[in-house]
Amino acid sequence: MSSTESGVHLRLSLTTKILVLFIFILVVPLAMLMMAAIKRTEDASTLDFNRRLGYAASLFRDSLEDQLDSLRIRTKTVADFDFYDLGKGGFDASTTRPLMQFELIRSGLDYFALVKNGTEVSLFEGSPPGESLGKIIPAICHTPLNANLYIIDRDAWIFAGAEITKLRGKDRQHIVFALKIARDFADRLKRLTGAEFSLLYGGRRVLTTMMDLYNHRMTDTIPVQPDARTGTMDVMGIQHSFVREEALSEKISEPVYVEIALPSSEFADLGKRITRDFTLFGVFGVLLAVITGSILSWHIAGPLKELARSTTRIAGGDLTASAPMDRLDEIGLLNRNFASMVDSLKAERDQKESKMRELSTLFEISNAVNFLTDSEELLKFVLTHAIDIFEAERGSIMLLDDLTDELVIKVAFGGRYRVASSNPVKLGSGICGLVAKDGKGRICNDGFKDSEFRNFGSLIPVEDIQTLLVAPLKFKEGTIGVINIVNKRSGAKFNENDLSLLNLITSQAAVTIENNKLYELSITDGLTRLFVQRYFQARLSEELLRARRYGLKLSLIMIDIDNFKHFNDVYGHQTGDQVLQRVALAIRDTIRTGIDIPCRYGGEEMTVILPETRTEEAFRTAERLRESIAALSLSHPMGALKITCSIGTASYPMDAGDRETLVMAADKAMYVSKRCGKNRTTSASEMNSVLT
Ligand code: GH3
Ligand code: MG
Ligand code: MG
Repeated sequence: MSSTESGVHLRLSLTTKILVLFIFILVVPLAMLMMAAIKRTEDASTLDFNRRLGYAASLFRDSLEDQLDSLRIRTKTVADFDFYDLGKGGFDASTTRPLMQFELIRSGLDYFALVKNGTEVSLFEGSPPGESLGKIIPAICHTPLNANLYIIDRDAWIFAGAEITKLRGKDRQHIVFALKIARDFADRLKRLTGAEFSLLYGGRRVLTTMMDLYNHRMTDTIPVQPDARTGTMDVMGIQHSFVREEALSEKISEPVYVEIALPSSEFADLGKRITRDFTLFGVFGVLLAVITGSILSWHIAGPLKELARSTTRIAGGDLTASAPMDRLDEIGLLNRNFASMVDSLKAERDQKESKMRELSTLFEISNAVNFLTDSEELLKFVLTHAIDIFEAERGSIMLLDDLTDELVIKVAFGGRYRVASSNPVKLGSGICGLVAKDGKGRICNDGFKDSEFRNFGSLIPVEDIQTLLVAPLKFKEGTIGVINIVNKRSGAKFNENDLSLLNLITSQAAVTIENNKLYELSITDGLTRLFVQRYFQARLSEELLRARRYGLKLSLIMIDIDNFKHFNDVYGHQTGDQVLQRVALAIRDTIRTGIDIPCRYGGEEMTVILPETRTEEAFRTAERLRESIAALSLSHPMGALKITCSIGTASYPMDAGDRETLVMAADKAMYVSKRCGKNRTTSASEMNSVLT
């Protein structure tokens, strides 16, 4: 197997190595051992076979020689007998024959002859050796104490001859005894050795132990090549190995061979059986090696591979990778150690990630503090980021009203509720009230069950507040509000780290909120909360510049309360101030919030810049304004006050090309309204027609 899992090329996997190792350690020596054993067994078996063959051959030969020797001794014993004393007449048939007959019977011999001068048979007894006797008798008699084997008419005969020693005649006399070897002569040897024995003469078997199917000796049926000394042959369908040796060498003139044959199957079968056994054993060994190797690799290489795969994934940044830890061995320990390393790595990474998140949130907030001049936008920004960073469900920011000393929700986010609705919270009341009062943040992991918790008429069911983190918005030792973070989405509790982080966030935000407050103070008029004249001039220049650049229209409305001196004189200055406040409120309510710019121009004169507004629209707006002011009613002990105002409008570029002339044009138009009877609106463009 090849793998590039970790970018490193694994040329040989552990599994393959183990298997190869096993085959080399177990199978190769086993095969060599097997071959050696087979060879040795074959050698031993061949040796054994040859030994058995040799043994059988020597038994056969010995047995022949024994018969020969015993006949020779017997013949010599008879020849040494004192025949002369036996009868008066000397040596003749009447005396000798009974003795010989007795000897034939006693010794189980087949033939007896008395031979004169080595050639002339004077007396004989027994069955017929036939005409070959003419050659055999002289050969036996001319050699004293001789004995020999002769094949006569397909029978094996043993002849022994001896000269009669105690004779008193001049003729030499010999005694010749002969014995026909029995056909079953070697059967006992066959039973003893399992071999087949034969005597070969003239290309055929004379005596044999081989039997055919009908239990006849196979003397004729098998032709023999007598010159083959060793070889194999078929006996009744069974392969035999044979050896042939000269029988009784130096004793027989014509060569007679003994043949000993053993079934080669006894040897071949043994070799085959051993080869088969060893092959089976070898196959079993290979199987065993493969199984053992597989089990080993399954137990070691498999888990290691899994561990390697995990480490590869971790190297690639995936810390969720894991390896099984239920093993109780070294690999299990490795896996467990590995897992704990990964855990600490994960914890470290999580910690780093959360720190990074905190830092980037703080950075974003501090950036936003510089760019977001609108307090409300900033509050929203801070709140959403705080909810994100704590992975909370929702949150809100409450600011302290300087006049009432109550906390009022300014922004709220998250969850499925409309969270902005809640009653103002008194300083020191409930968790947020306490935080605002003490200027110290609180972790309230008991949520609504906390003894300090109060419900301030929020539409959110109190049971939905499980955990709560509250930090004060502080500026120069003074608390200007609180931030509430509710329920971590994971269900986890808030901790001291969370509180410190929230404090950091709020300290950033509080500066801007306070700065914005100061700035707003500096550009708004304390009484009417309208912009001051300085701001009006600046904004008018700015808007004119924009209108000029983009070819836009721009209108200006100038308002002067009618007979204001009268209010002051009759009802007092304070009432005059109230009138101013009500008129300012009416202006703010009538114009487009965030687009039109309402200012207190001075005294009881007010002005509104209307960007991107043409004359007709400005006039309509002015009229609406005039009507809403006229509709105002201010109750007073001396009776209801009636307030009216005179309005003049002027538009760029129709009525004026720059700031001063535009203001002047509006002012003039306003004076036209005064002169024409007050409580009316005059547009600069129609001013002339009105005047004329
Ligand atoms: P007209 O209809 O012609 O405008 O008559 P008027 O009485 O309103 O006359 P004018 O505009 O000249 O009077 C301005 C008066 O407004 C002068 C001053 O006493 C009064 N006033 C200016 N600023 C304030 C203020 O802040 N509070 C109060 N109560 N009165 C102010
Ligand atoms: Mg005035
Ligand atoms: Mg006036």
